[in-house]
Amino acid sequence: MSSGIRFDRVSVAYGKNTVLDALDLTVEPGEVMALLGPSGSGKTTALRAVAGFVRPASGRVFIGERDVTGLPPHQRGIGMVVQQYALFPHMRVAENVAFGMKAQKVPKSEIPGRVAEALDMTGMASYARRFPRELSGGQQQRVAIARALAIRPGVLLLDEPLSALDAQLRSGMLGELARLHRELPDVSILYVTHDQVEALTLADRIAVMDKARLKDCGTPQELYRTPRTEFTASFVGNANLLSVRVGSGAVSFGDTDLKVDTGGV
Ligand code: ADP
Repeated sequence: MSSGIRFDRVSVAYGKNTVLDALDLTVEPGEVMALLGPSGSGKTTALRAVAGFVRPASGRVFIGERDVTGLPPHQRGIGMVVQQYALFPHMRVAENVAFGMKAQKVPKSEIPGRVAEALDMTGMASYARRFPRELSGGQQQRVAIARALAIRPGVLLLDEPLSALDAQLRSGMLGELARLHRELPDVSILYVTHDQVEALTLADRIAVMDKARLKDCGTPQELYRTPRTEFTASFVGNANLLSVRVGSGAVSFGDTDLKVDTGGV
């Protein structure tokens, strides 16, 4: 199912502190939108407003044509992956992946097939009987991604999914996420990160945030070549990060080539 995301002047406040200020932003169906910005700028809050974990003080959130502003998380058709995997330690990998589907009321007879399919997509099929503690960090994050995919979401919400991994694993997982995006062309992805390389590698467009506000939004090329605000220029305006080539497994930043590992586990 193909469904984009639309923030319509969404504001979120904690007490007197406005942490998301009238956000207007549209993620097109099948698009990867990175939310990029420094710590505390409101990125996670925006993502949690789509997930249904925070209630906007004002404004509406749409997934596809549906106004989901008042709906509980499990009725929104979203899959979510956070930094620290959040797997249940007492459940095997397959049980962890099945868990989300039960809350979504997927018919019981469909669950094993969908668990197998999701573990296949993430290269984790042979680990189905393991417990999370028997897996590396990268493998646990793959299971978390499988759990999110198993519900066949129209929208995938990724909150700093790679920041707990070491540099080498991170580049492998970046390639994996790029591959998944190609295999799931209908799924819209909102990708929260403070890392420019991740945003450049994966995103069709990047929304730049600072101090609760959207500062800029455009393709990587637009933001790096013609930033609309001073903040964007100073935050993303590294002169070396000019030419971007994504999708082939290699990303070139000016003179430097970053190889993204797109092969298997
Ligand atoms: P980011 O993801 O860009 O790091 P967040 O959306 O997590 O930013 O946080 C934005 C602001 O909201 C921060 O100042 C943070 O301290 C505050 N904040 C986030 N969650 C809560 C909460 N549950 N209660 C109070 N303040 C919060």
